[in-house]
Amino acid sequence: MYARTQNENGTYNTRCLYCFMTVASAVETPEELDQVEARHFCPEKVLSQLVAAERQHSDHAH
Ligand SMILES: [Zn+2]
Repeated sequence: MYARTQNENGTYNTRCLYCFMTVASAVETPEELDQVEARHFCPEKVLSQLVAAERQHSDHAH
């Protein structure tokens, strides 16, 4: 998941909604946004997947 914003000069910024890191700024085309987002290695996303995997091993008692 990424939050894309457009600058006044027409370029784009994209920010990762998992780690809140700005993945790219001043990107000129949506196609390039797709590429930089695909390249983003998100530490938070990996972590949340690990936590989800751990939860599957435990029972659901809270
Ligand atoms: Zn991220």
